[in-house]
Amino acid sequence: MTDSTDARPLRFAVIGAGMAGILAAIKLTEAGYDDFTIYEKADRLGGTWRENTYPGIACDVPSHLYSYSFALNPNWSYKFSPGAEILAYFERIAREHDVERFVRFGTEITSCEWVDGKWHLIGADDEIDAVDVVIAATGVFDHPRMPDIPGLEDFAGPMFHTAQWDHSVSLDDKRVGVIGTGSSGIQVTGALAGKVPHFTLFQRTAQWIAPQDQIKFTAEEQAAFAEDPDKLLATHKQEDEGFSIFANAVVNAASPEMTLIEQMCKEHLETAVRDPELRERLRPDYRAACKRLVVSPEFYEAIQHPDAELVTEPIERIETGGVRTADGVLHELDVLVIATGFNTHDFMRPMEITGRDGMTLTKMWADRAKAYLSISIPDFPNLFMLNGPNGPVGNFSLIQVAEMQFDYILQLVERLQTGASAEISASHEALDAFEDERYEAAQHTIWASGCSSWYLDDRGIPAVWPFPFDRFRAEMKAPNLDHYDCR
Ligand code: NAP
Repeated sequence: MTDSTDARPLRFAVIGAGMAGILAAIKLTEAGYDDFTIYEKADRLGGTWRENTYPGIACDVPSHLYSYSFALNPNWSYKFSPGAEILAYFERIAREHDVERFVRFGTEITSCEWVDGKWHLIGADDEIDAVDVVIAATGVFDHPRMPDIPGLEDFAGPMFHTAQWDHSVSLDDKRVGVIGTGSSGIQVTGALAGKVPHFTLFQRTAQWIAPQDQIKFTAEEQAAFAEDPDKLLATHKQEDEGFSIFANAVVNAASPEMTLIEQMCKEHLETAVRDPELRERLRPDYRAACKRLVVSPEFYEAIQHPDAELVTEPIERIETGGVRTADGVLHELDVLVIATGFNTHDFMRPMEITGRDGMTLTKMWADRAKAYLSISIPDFPNLFMLNGPNGPVGNFSLIQVAEMQFDYILQLVERLQTGASAEISASHEALDAFEDERYEAAQHTIWASGCSSWYLDDRGIPAVWPFPFDRFRAEMKAPNLDHYDCR
């Protein structure tokens, strides 16, 4: 924070106390800003890791990379650690940085309005704050999506979405069905198939599954990480380099690296699935990584268990006793798990946000969600998003992405603090040019190679960062002020 004659104190609101909200709190205080509140609708920190507690939940980004760079963790139990451990990590880091003193739990912001140079925040009908800067840390996987399947409400047994797991339901003596084969459904399958009396996976579209070199760290290895911060940092860097190769491969569908990833997935399927008939039913008819690549060390083994069944016949409807497929078969179930993903294009919504001159987010995003560099929206001054629309979300460490974004945002905030600008938002021209370039680049990515996925927007264009990851790093070093409307 810089002092100057025009310097002004800034009050911030951070919306959301998940990974990115905790990060924002730590970085704001480090930069000398301590006048802020984090608004969190739940009663606990943790965001998606608080909500998603389904059996088998883990992060398929290596834990030594899926960590804050300033709080590397020697104690990860696995190379890919389970969800509960990740949540505990965020809670510990928040505790160590005394983040909770800034959090107002149980407070959902329903709207934000820009009036006379301030953001007015409304929650439960009342104005609860007026701030200079809003940091939206609302996450990507915040809105569970229920499928539009006839009869869904008719199911007589317990039924829940993976992001709303009902742990009061014992599965010990139950026939369990799972609808959906994204990362969540595949992880649940790995955890439950063969462990419950009968397990049925309803697959609408087959998934490519990349193998995972899962490793359990020994106590000696953890101690070695704890004793030698350089070793910990080197591991973080090594994982980062590995991921950069992947990140650069997926944005160029014609790259040799992409071919290698495809070969790896094909080989996994060939070698891991013994029954040729099952293998063909599990074989996707599109290129690997077109949908977000699913990574699993155990899925193929689990689905081959004698008590597990893969159903590929389309679902016709849900009935009291189970799932009826188009061939007329009723698959009888006691518990039905919905693993059909999230409304990932909602971002800050359903918050109603009104920017300069009455421009609403609903109007601004009438076609689709867009933001300059995924951070800033024209005419929504002093509002910055972490992991906003069209950013690098596919199989990357969103922590790493949010850290880079926050350091970038802090440079814009410094202009506000020093009085160099009172209002900053991306210019319309910059957003339009960015969108044009993104549209063109997106068509060369693997995500546009012919499949349906949550990456795609209403035009079938991948709504994610389509450029090499190095470009993202370079863009995040410093804002180009020519691309901002600074007043
Ligand atoms: P998802 O990838 O969107 O997968 C949803 C699944 O539900 C798909 O298989 C889809 O089939 C199926 N589906 C949707 N509607 C259906 C319907 N009406 N009838 C039958 N099937 C239907 O959701 P997700 O698995 O929850 O994962 C979402 C994202 O969360 C991931 O891509 C990832 O970014 C993140 N995630 C990450 C991890 C991790 O380890 N880092 C773990 C879990 C989730 P179609 O393919 O046919 O559409």
